[in-house]
Amino acid sequence: MDLKSKIRVIEDFPEKGISFKDITTLTKDGEAFKETVDRIVADLKGRNIDYIAGPEARGFLLGAAVAYALGVGFIPVRKPGKLPGETASYEYELEYGNSKLEIHLDAIEKGKKVAIVDDLLATGGTVSSVVKLIESLGAEVVALEFLIELEFLKGRENIEGYHINSLVKYD
Ligand code: 5GP
Repeated sequence: MDLKSKIRVIEDFPEKGISFKDITTLTKDGEAFKETVDRIVADLKGRNIDYIAGPEARGFLLGAAVAYALGVGFIPVRKPGKLPGETASYEYELEYGNSKLEIHLDAIEKGKKVAIVDDLLATGGTVSSVVKLIESLGAEVVALEFLIELEFLKGRENIEGYHINSLVKYD
């Protein structure tokens, strides 16, 4: 299936000059959503994943489905002030603006293998901060999985040394 054809592009959202990739048109399509999850799961098979982690909010949509399919737990990485327990936090720059992410300090045990799932790789700022949060807990990041990669932003260069898989690319 051509997953790219299921993604809607909206110009000048959330700011002028940004060509936003809207995945709601893909997730509403049952076959396209299932194929997306199945293809990420296929790439993770054999990697002995203990947990899937995903950043708020679109990382939850795909990450939770992938975790369910693999039969492993899902770890939410959230915007500040949302997690009730003690957290580690990391501040980073976005394609548009600044942001901060948090993870529960006791979310992942030392030495566990974690795959990060998000909808889109742009500059790599978001996924790099998720990597740093997970590694700060003493766990190992074994794969980074995305539905979409904006290749022209060269996010991969900010996250060298990790296995990176993306299903749909824009250049
Ligand atoms: P990065 O941190 O790699 O620059 O940006 C990636 C993050 O921003 C992802 O968590 C993603 O959800 C969000 N993001 C940035 N641009 C887009 C876009 O065009 N479409 C969608 N769906 N998410 C985006």
